[in-house]
Amino acid sequence: MNSLYVKERAHELGFEACGVARAHRVDDEAVLRYAHWLAQERHGCMEWATRHIDLRDNPQGLLPGAQSVIVVAMNYYPSRFQPQDAPQFAYYAYGRDYHEVVKRRLWLLAADIERMAPCQTRCCVDSAPLRERYWAWQAGLGFIGLNNALILPGRGSYYFLGVILTTLQLEPDAPCYLSCGECRACLRACPAGALTGEGAVDARRCLSCLTIEHRGELPQWVEGVLGNRVFGCDECQKCCPHNRHARPTNVPEFQPSDEFLSLTYQRLAQMDQAEFSRLFSHSAVKRAKLAGLQRNLALCTPRLSGEE
Ligand code: SF4
Ligand code: SF4
Repeated sequence: MNSLYVKERAHELGFEACGVARAHRVDDEAVLRYAHWLAQERHGCMEWATRHIDLRDNPQGLLPGAQSVIVVAMNYYPSRFQPQDAPQFAYYAYGRDYHEVVKRRLWLLAADIERMAPCQTRCCVDSAPLRERYWAWQAGLGFIGLNNALILPGRGSYYFLGVILTTLQLEPDAPCYLSCGECRACLRACPAGALTGEGAVDARRCLSCLTIEHRGELPQWVEGVLGNRVFGCDECQKCCPHNRHARPTNVPEFQPSDEFLSLTYQRLAQMDQAEFSRLFSHSAVKRAKLAGLQRNLALCTPRLSGEE
């Protein structure tokens, strides 16, 4: 089957990029790199990263008979931003939870594909042990930068990825062989020294991982580098030259509400569970839980209005 139909349909559903890779075993270099990362315990508190390694290395385990990996990307770059002196949330958490938004559209795409040709499909949005960025690279969407994000040439890295595994044989795209070249901006910009320089992140130092995934008290050193980031961190993306011309998303679900944009330190500090649930039950922020958010807030250094 020609993959053109799939790509056109993906576009209609709001995915700005779509590519196809053959569903082979992950190459040895990527397998070794991941094993090395785990051996150095750079996964930090992300225990889940150590599980289901066999599935991570071979998509056949997730969908027996899989022939193709369809990868789509959806822009989440905001059109409106929090004031700089507000407690900062990572851009990806500005709107509705991407798991819900991307998955709903992936299901529609998968249903269309199954209607077009008899096959099986399995949709994954951060919901299965699958190397999304590796497959996005294989499917020609972009390359994995030294900040560990997938960079779509000409578009940047503020994109959610979704994957459909299918037993359908589709014409594959060529992998993207661009790279960061001489740039090292993200290594310099990371406030916590979490980037290894080999395209990996040391999650034990990454503020995104620590403020979202970590349970219990944060290491003391975090207070000195956290600044006013209360949920996640975008520094290694903000500095990336590929994001200089990022265009705002037109996906309605990713638009931030006025209420979200007006959140203050005081409001977050006084927030109770009922208000947290009302505001964030359909947001990626719920992952940190109210206790995590308020723990982070207590370590934040408020930024004065107008401060650069
Ligand atoms: S998200 Fe922040 S702390 Fe983590 S690697 Fe990027 S710049 Fe560093
Ligand atoms: S900032 Fe530079 S080195 Fe880092 S990911 Fe972007 S292009 Fe690559």
